[in-house]
Amino acid sequence: MVGVRQQALQEFHEIPAWFYETPVKELARVAGGPMLIHLKGARSPALFVSALLHGNEWTGLLALREWLKGLTPRNRPLPRDLILFVGNVEAAAINERRLADGPDFNRIWREPPPAVAPLVHRILDLMRGNPPFAAIDIHNNTGKNPAYACVSQWEHRHLHLALLFGRLVVFSEQPTTTFAYTSSEFCPAVTLECGLSGEPAGVARAVEYLDACAHLSAFPTHPVLPQDIEGYRTMARISVLDGVSFAFGEAACPNPDSIVFRSDLDSLNFRELPVGTAIGFASTLDGITVHDKDGAPVDCLSLREGQIVTTRPLVPAMLSVSPIAVRYDCLGYVMERLEVPR
Ligand SMILES: [Zn+2]
Repeated sequence: MVGVRQQALQEFHEIPAWFYETPVKELARVAGGPMLIHLKGARSPALFVSALLHGNEWTGLLALREWLKGLTPRNRPLPRDLILFVGNVEAAAINERRLADGPDFNRIWREPPPAVAPLVHRILDLMRGNPPFAAIDIHNNTGKNPAYACVSQWEHRHLHLALLFGRLVVFSEQPTTTFAYTSSEFCPAVTLECGLSGEPAGVARAVEYLDACAHLSAFPTHPVLPQDIEGYRTMARISVLDGVSFAFGEAACPNPDSIVFRSDLDSLNFRELPVGTAIGFASTLDGITVHDKDGAPVDCLSLREGQIVTTRPLVPAMLSVSPIAVRYDCLGYVMERLEVPR
């Protein structure tokens, strides 16, 4: 069979009774597909919250459950209308970012493949027709990272939304096919990166954030102050070429064609690395690319006695020690500081 079967969107106008207790891996079977849940609250327009766009990133769903559960038993009304999108439940059933033969739900929002096109158009039509108050897409990193928010527009309203989460804000201009990027055309939008999937601290932080956003009546109109934000943009993306073998470990591989990255690589995320910091072992750098967003090579790594070392001071982020994440996505990013917009 060619192509993947249609991902039919299941819509609800109240929280299904099974929403709270169904194991994440069972959601696909119980819900029957990706879910869109519309809930009435005290204010309009709705806050749009998405979770599980990546099937192995569960914090968003866990946080939504915890937050909503905390509201309903005491009969506290929802402070604002809410639209929840629970995305790739099929990939969540196997705890993978996406199905091997299915699309990445956070790369489908410009030119969606046929299997998800109706779902994408339904959600974007909804947002276009009635722009949300804000859009919050909740993710996790595959490597250790501090919690941070990403914005697709370096603009005060978007930054205010991000700063409710914390000081660390990343401007992600690429890829343009993400949900946050597309929804930023309709309303302030953020992607929350809540550390490793399911970690209680990340869930608690997301719950707090959802509650704060839902209670917000309007965004501040004053500009974001430089001292309130630690802003970064991705300057380059570090990838391993397809077909190149790599692993994570403490020493060079006997096979000279194989690259070995430090197994604690993700402990370097958002740290200022001095020149000469070793990130792994290799006999050649041919299998590693470091490219800026226009595809131009960025010179920041070299080989020194079999070690891969940095050749300029840099701050890496989103470095992963998950072979699948590196294969499907990339090894990580090189960041640069970014000041508040004028
Ligand atoms: Zn993700």
